[in-house]
Amino acid sequence: GEERLVSPEIRGDEIDTSMRPQALDEFIGQKLARANLKIFIEAAKARGEALDHVLFVGPPGLGKTTLAQIMARELGVNFRATSGPVIAKAGDLAALLTNLEERDVLFIDEIHRLNPAVEEVLYPAMEDFQLDLIIGEGPAARSVKIDLAKFTLVAATTRLGLLTTPLRDRFGIPVRLQFYTTEELEFIVRRGARILGLSMTDDGASEIAKRSRGTPRIAGRLLRRVRDFAIVAGDGQVTAKIADRALTQLEVDAAGLDQLDRRYLTQIAVNFGGGPVGIETIAAALSEPRDAIEEIVEPYLIQNGYLQRTPRGRILTALAFRHLGLSPPQAADL
Ligand code: ADP
Repeated sequence: GEERLVSPEIRGDEIDTSMRPQALDEFIGQKLARANLKIFIEAAKARGEALDHVLFVGPPGLGKTTLAQIMARELGVNFRATSGPVIAKAGDLAALLTNLEERDVLFIDEIHRLNPAVEEVLYPAMEDFQLDLIIGEGPAARSVKIDLAKFTLVAATTRLGLLTTPLRDRFGIPVRLQFYTTEELEFIVRRGARILGLSMTDDGASEIAKRSRGTPRIAGRLLRRVRDFAIVAGDGQVTAKIADRALTQLEVDAAGLDQLDRRYLTQIAVNFGGGPVGIETIAAALSEPRDAIEEIVEPYLIQNGYLQRTPRGRILTALAFRHLGLSPPQAADL
């Protein structure tokens, strides 16, 4: 179907939606971000003012959209959602902004993909709650200013480096999200199992959590696949053994790395002697877009000590070689 400019849910199937935490206190993990948001939300409510603009930064699937929805709910205001690439023209953004009520939350996902002409409209809107529009063309053109409701922009990006400085500077509350610990993911998996009415052993939950790449969205996805497997291959109960069999079949390895992670590591190990090798070269060798590699593959591998990003290029660590069952060359013995 046609992509809608504004929709209450921008992604996720039914189960996905029902597994979304609804309140800040239900949200597991991201302790620091949560504590800060709680204070800012309470202060804004006490003053009866719109919350300052918030920018969430972090890899996909860590809860940026979920937190934005929760913020609107806790503030008791409307939630409107769209995303950078969907807002094609300045007029599209103007239409969105003029429909907001006082203190509403406007969520813009993938804000780094906003078109520059649209971004220009956003600056005065964020700063002075005003739209500066040019009406008409040629000598008859004139500029009009329209007052907007004092709203809160909550934006999300996977790539802070791709944001322009003027845009970045207009967010009063930057929030960086972290990968989740195994313990946090275990909570999320158990909560998901309860919602799905699924019986699961503790070691079953822990097996899924360990292999979720630090990411709640992946935990939810694996949980549903393991559930299918438990129904077909077992008695419906999720045990560590069932989880392991299902995840092995899905090519998620014991460390939680998937097929693309391993292709990435193998490529550098085998074809580039462990690096250093530039990102463009790796992307070409894998036939994957550079963006996807930088957004989805590398952050987790770097965080977990498989990879180092240096000015000369990417370098595999000894851990990565060992993980692939290869012996590291001298230079990679970090
Ligand atoms: P992002 O916007 O960062 O890509 P989402 O907010 O869409 O991520 O979250 C992805 C999925 O993970 C959703 O299904 C959501 O329910 C789930 N999720 C994210 N964070 C949590 C959390 N802290 N606890 C439980 N589920 C979570």
